[in-house]
Amino acid sequence: MKVTVIGYWGAYPAAGSATSGYLFEKDGFTMLVDCGSGVLSRLQQYKNIESIDAVVLSHYHHDHVADIGPLQYACLVKHTLAGTKGNLPIYGHDEVPRKLETLTHQHTKGVAYDPEKTLEVGPFTIQFQKTQHPVPCYGMRIEEGDNTVVYTADTGYFPEWASFARHADLLITDTNFYKGMDGKGPGHMTSTEAASIAAEAQVQELWLSHLPHFGKLTSLLQEAEDVFSGTIRLAEEGLSWSK
Ligand SMILES: [Zn+2]
Ligand SMILES: [Zn+2]
Repeated sequence: MKVTVIGYWGAYPAAGSATSGYLFEKDGFTMLVDCGSGVLSRLQQYKNIESIDAVVLSHYHHDHVADIGPLQYACLVKHTLAGTKGNLPIYGHDEVPRKLETLTHQHTKGVAYDPEKTLEVGPFTIQFQKTQHPVPCYGMRIEEGDNTVVYTADTGYFPEWASFARHADLLITDTNFYKGMDGKGPGHMTSTEAASIAAEAQVQELWLSHLPHFGKLTSLLQEAEDVFSGTIRLAEEGLSWSK
């Protein structure tokens, strides 16, 4: 499978870029995980909107769902122009009143996932981990064949992440804060917390993402490297991994 970063900022997009959005591809099937602000614009640098086969959402904060509305309009315009039918499935949890129904539009269909169960989306198998965040949010363990990618979505640190991410080929973490800061309140992790999960879970590669709009981002990398000796990358648009 191939994973590509489309958006990687926390809260709001810096000029010309996007908040959370990641493309997962395998054998012509394309799944978008989270659809934050700027994602619809930036992803067209890599894929046609029509080629998106499914969307899976971690939670309903704006920096993860802001472009769902524009995506729905895009589906409407493209199907109308082409004279085609079809419903893009958008998977989300149903733990916040009136959110899941907003995922359904003329050519999109909101589908509730049960986080207690495994979800099959095309070639991908997804397990969920409830995160520590001010609203219900789910991290994902996405498997295809022998390959595993774990995405923490938005979360404060807690030790169970190490078992959820065990031996992943790639771990993508919420890294919204620098070493020594306290992310527990807003429900985000620091560089060293993210790296400690990577080390304990013995993952192959770590991507620091959901990045802050303050400080020197390369410091996040240095702080993480003191804790985890594997490959570490700072998320940026177009960063990709495949196996
Ligand atoms: Zn977020
Ligand atoms: Zn959030």
